[in-house]
Amino acid sequence: MIAKGKVVKLAYSLKNSKGETIDVADSKDPFLYLHGAKEVVPGLEKALEGMKKGDKKSVTVAPKDGYGEINPELKIEVTRSQFPQNVELKSGMQFETHTQDGYGMIFTVESVTGEKVLINGNHPLAGETLHFEVEVLEIRAATQEEADHGHAHDGTHNH
Ligand code: ZN
Repeated sequence: MIAKGKVVKLAYSLKNSKGETIDVADSKDPFLYLHGAKEVVPGLEKALEGMKKGDKKSVTVAPKDGYGEINPELKIEVTRSQFPQNVELKSGMQFETHTQDGYGMIFTVESVTGEKVLINGNHPLAGETLHFEVEVLEIRAATQEEADHGHAHDGTHNH
């Protein structure tokens, strides 16, 4: 049964409310995670708790239990001159910046209008209701190393 400290192998599909597929993992390329280690969004982790191998489920996750609500304060207008001259700014491009606390934050360029650049620091899936179809392929106990690292190892990497 899926519980804290178990490594779970999943097949899943993720769609947004418009029915567009955002992400897929199938049995050939499954998704592996350590349950209870915040590797998946809270709403999905909660729904997976107690499921058994072979179980399937449809899970709808509200934004607050997914990637959060859209924070309007993270939509910021800056000027072209705040970017390096040699960078060609296009909507959709992403860049990383650091807060005063040193945390890395990914911003997406929303639009470029003359000297004005609108950037957005929200997660691309913020504000989205997430629709998962999950199937539990395998459940095993975490190794000591996985428990220490706080994530699942897929056998192809060691660190
Ligand atoms: Zn590791």
